[in-house]
Amino acid sequence: MEPTGNIQTSPPAALPATVEPEVVRQQVEAELTRILYRSAGFGLYSNLAVSLVLVVGLWSYFPARTHLIWFGSVVAVTLLRLVLNHRFARAAPLNEQLPRWRRAFVVGLALSAGLWGVAAWLFLNTPDVLPRCLVLLILAGLNAGAARSLAPVKACHHLYVTLTLLPVFSVLLMMPETGMWTLSLCTFTYALFLLNTTHLQHADLRKLHRVAFENEALLQSLSAAKARAEDASVAKSDFLATMSHEIRTPMNGLIGMLQLIRDSELNTEQREQVNIAGDSAHALLRLLNDILDFSRIESGRLEFESIPFSVGQVAEETISFMDARVDAKRLTLRLTKSPDLPELVIGDPGRLKQVLINLISNALKFTEAGSVNLDLERVPGPLDHATLRFRIRDTGIGMNAETVAKLFNKFTQADSSTTRRYGGSGLGLAIAQELVRRMGGEIKVQSTPGQGSEFHFEVSLRLAEELPSSAGRSNPPLETPLPAARVLVVDDDAVNRRVIKMLLSRFGLTTTLVAGGEEAIERAVNEPWDIVFIDLRMPGIDGLETTRRIRHRLAGRPLLIVAMTANAMDDDRADCMAAGMDDFVTKPVKQAELRKRLEGWLKPPASRR
Ligand code: ADP
Repeated sequence: MEPTGNIQTSPPAALPATVEPEVVRQQVEAELTRILYRSAGFGLYSNLAVSLVLVVGLWSYFPARTHLIWFGSVVAVTLLRLVLNHRFARAAPLNEQLPRWRRAFVVGLALSAGLWGVAAWLFLNTPDVLPRCLVLLILAGLNAGAARSLAPVKACHHLYVTLTLLPVFSVLLMMPETGMWTLSLCTFTYALFLLNTTHLQHADLRKLHRVAFENEALLQSLSAAKARAEDASVAKSDFLATMSHEIRTPMNGLIGMLQLIRDSELNTEQREQVNIAGDSAHALLRLLNDILDFSRIESGRLEFESIPFSVGQVAEETISFMDARVDAKRLTLRLTKSPDLPELVIGDPGRLKQVLINLISNALKFTEAGSVNLDLERVPGPLDHATLRFRIRDTGIGMNAETVAKLFNKFTQADSSTTRRYGGSGLGLAIAQELVRRMGGEIKVQSTPGQGSEFHFEVSLRLAEELPSSAGRSNPPLETPLPAARVLVVDDDAVNRRVIKMLLSRFGLTTTLVAGGEEAIERAVNEPWDIVFIDLRMPGIDGLETTRRIRHRLAGRPLLIVAMTANAMDDDRADCMAAGMDDFVTKPVKQAELRKRLEGWLKPPASRR
């Protein structure tokens, strides 16, 4: 079958388009020239030594003049080549300059080899055995060494063999003694053997360096691609942060207004309409939060708290939070806790609740009749830890094995037909799984179509030793009156200003609204306030700068400044603290949450911590 879609296949040996074969070929050629120079160094000294041996050995057989002229020429050529080698090492030439250096090397080599050809011509032409043996032995040895040192450039080796062994071959062939042609044949065969050896070694060298340069080029293109991907990821995170802000700002107006309308005099039909609008707004907010969490996971910026909390209480709060949805469907939602649960453990209660809400929401979403159960029990584990097992069971539509297999994939609605019926982004379970993994566990699933599903996971949380002042205790009831307080709200968005003012007035607080940084600074510094809420993104002086200037003008006088912003990334929190803010709330601000936070902020400073 033909491959479909945009999946591209390529043979494994093919290079990616980024690695240019011509560029690699030039790099290999350049490297071979460098090796040629490097391996010539020692050969030059031994060349000189061997010529001296030859001259000394044959001194009495030939006229002194012949020896001196030949040896003098060898010394001169060798010195020339040594100078060339030395210059090459000092110049460390660039790739494009190397062809010139290669030609210079060939000239030096040709002179040197030519002198050995002359030696063969001069010193083999004698009936004496010793000179013949010495010349043959020396030339055979030199050629054996050259086969290795000249292998990087085959033309050099061909030249050397031709200039040194061709004279030997011809002189032997012309000798009058019977059978001398056999020695010529030997020389010829030896030359062929050397040429073949060099050919093989050259091929190996070339291949080795080609692979090395290709790998280098691949590495470079990979790291360039990695840098591009990292840039894109940063851009994506920035974009998400901006979008999150842009969507949260109007959401704040929407949810805030709906909260206010819901609490006013409404007939049954109006109440139902407002509730539906409220549910839709919250669904949109959940989706936004999922996308934000997903981006945090992708960019490795998902942060976890480590604070003492009661796991039983988290389970109870989750169940009561979900109760509203149960009523609508007439399902039973039950929580079962084993009696041996620890009082307090260390971890992130918010993230744990997020996982439970996700799993229970799904269970409720996919169950038309029957029940949904959350079972929480302690199972054996390390002594200083509590290993807790969470089980979410439902009697809903269940899933087949194929659906279960795709369940934790991002963006995948495991069964696409459910998207149309039940909606959803398909991110929920992927995020829940990542959160549980970060807590050291893994969500597992058992499901039977038509009968229901069970999601369960175990996490091992460290036991907390001391009861902190606020953890483990239930929150004070909502009705506790807040102390009278003056609040300054700084926000450039008119709708948001109205929403926050209405919320705060409902709690009995006196609220003053300001639309920009300049005015905010003057009023914050010159009038008495219990809390100043400041939006971060404002035209002109932004929230961070406004805070810095207020702190500067206050010169140490205490004032509680809280960021109230639609920016929901963790970096923003750090920026706020660095600018001098005391706390941070994200928009859309929920009435109940704001009430709870206000209780903390409006306590006298001594009891706040
Ligand atoms: P979403 O965020 O869109 O709900 P999830 O990742 O939470 O996506 O769920 C993915 C899919 O898994 C759902 O669309 C559904 O097909 C299936 N699923 C999850 N939980 C259950 C369940 N309790 N019963 C049946 N199907 C479920």
